[in-house]
Amino acid sequence: MKITFLGTGTSQGIPIIGSEHPVCLSDDSRDKRLRVSVMVEWDDHCYIIDCGPDFRQQMLSNDVKRIDGILFTHEHADHTAGLDDIRPFFFRQGDIPVYAHERVLKALERRFDYIFLTEGKYPGAPSVKQHVVKNNETLKLGNLNVVPINAMHNRLQVFGYRFDDFAYLTDVKSIEPDEVDKLTGVDVLVVNALRIDAHHSHFNLEEAITFVKRVGPKRAYFTHISHMLGFHAEVEESLPENVFLAYDNLKIEL
Ligand SMILES: [Zn+2]
Repeated sequence: MKITFLGTGTSQGIPIIGSEHPVCLSDDSRDKRLRVSVMVEWDDHCYIIDCGPDFRQQMLSNDVKRIDGILFTHEHADHTAGLDDIRPFFFRQGDIPVYAHERVLKALERRFDYIFLTEGKYPGAPSVKQHVVKNNETLKLGNLNVVPINAMHNRLQVFGYRFDDFAYLTDVKSIEPDEVDKLTGVDVLVVNALRIDAHHSHFNLEEAITFVKRVGPKRAYFTHISHMLGFHAEVEESLPENVFLAYDNLKIEL
């Protein structure tokens, strides 16, 4: 299985437009972060988790020719705003499968009504094939069983996904013990770590480290990072041995 971090930034990305914050001005390419997304590939399968405003650029810079589907964690704009840019895939492949909580599918339908129309569609508008993700129901993607992991983003439900020995969770602030149990035995865990200070809807660095210790993966990578976490190089040096900051275009194999 190959994982590509397409984006590792929080909602505004790094640099933030117009910001003079030292991290936003950093020359280190690892301090440039597009909105969060990850690509999961195995055999000839290719799935993307979330489809934020940087989706087009992420597909171009990774020369992605075909996708089997998009899994959504939740409906916030930094995870969904790029949906119109599935058009090139739609033109070549037909309806693009999307997987999300029923609530998230409804939110997508409100925002991208022209994509979801069943008649009178504007020529050139893309179409999707909707799949409802339910908690405690395994998804069958290709030859793999993918397990949704239920978590909370303050008061909003979000899904993480476990693909075999790889698990990806973002925008988590709290998670029930039963859901943590679903992560037992993962080799690679990805989870959000927003910044140093506490936040109402995201793990901060300390909470993310505590969560990694609770799950006990072989390796962990942090994502959904804001400029307020600090410089990549400095923060990574402070982390436990098997914990890393992800950065855009990082690829890992497992
Ligand atoms: Zn987010």
